[in-house]
Amino acid sequence: MFQLDGKVAMITGGSKGIGLGMAHCLGKLGAKLAIASRGEKDLEYARQELSEKGYEVLATPVDVSNKESVESWIEKVVHEFGQVDILVNNAGTNIRKPLVEVEGKDWERVIDTNLKGVFLVGQAVAKQLIEQKKGGRIINISSIFGGVGGIFQSSYAASKGGMNQLTKVWAHELAEEGITVNGLAPGYIKTPMTKGWLNDEERLKNIIDQTMVKRVGHLEDLEGPLALLASDESSYLTGQTLYVDGGWTAK
Ligand code: NDP
Repeated sequence: MFQLDGKVAMITGGSKGIGLGMAHCLGKLGAKLAIASRGEKDLEYARQELSEKGYEVLATPVDVSNKESVESWIEKVVHEFGQVDILVNNAGTNIRKPLVEVEGKDWERVIDTNLKGVFLVGQAVAKQLIEQKKGGRIINISSIFGGVGGIFQSSYAASKGGMNQLTKVWAHELAEEGITVNGLAPGYIKTPMTKGWLNDEERLKNIIDQTMVKRVGHLEDLEGPLALLASDESSYLTGQTLYVDGGWTAK
């Protein structure tokens, strides 16, 4: 089950953190990998790391909030690999600030990456998948804060809540094309984005206390759920956001 031999997976934000972890997971299952992010150095490290494992990798500098950048990435992937099968819409950012301190530039950065970017990439990949007429998988990487409010998360929670709605709308629109669209919402996972936040011992203890399983998540915790959502075996599963959070949101 869950074999992806011959499939092509596009992963935004694939240069580090969760995106890189997901690229490893999909590579292990046999997929060819097209990773993208803005920082070329990180991207090159990630390309080398994945290539050393024997995976076929195309690494492209892309800004997901820029339509031309996104469209030329897809053209390049199709030119190189001939098709697209799976999109992991993962690139994201966060700024934690109380409501009254959020500046216009904070709001724009988070919304442009996490919501506009997800839309632009999802739209461009959907066009390609429809043209190919072979179905496909779109996986939007959400967050526990797409479902619960949190605190100091105005722009982030708004972006992830919006993303969860996109997941449902796209699932509905693309179902007859054999394309499933689902969200995967991790709990706290130690990555470059959350490292500083999770290094505070008291905060870490507080977060662990809020999970049912009494620990933070690891990249490996996302592999099984991702493999399911990316696989041919999940063709009756669409429009859902799967919370992989140690029980955090179910409490
Ligand atoms: P990281 O900060 O570690 O990685 C983010 C990735 O996104 C990097 O590759 C970054 O590269 C890329 N990126 C950011 N902005 C853009 C852009 N405009 N265009 C292209 N690429 C971009 O974050 P995480 O791995 O922690 O998070 C990944 C996703 O998982 C995010 O959507 C996040 O919201 C979500 N998530 C994370 C959780 C966690 O605990 N870590 C929990 C729940 C959800 P570059 O900056 O070079 O472009």
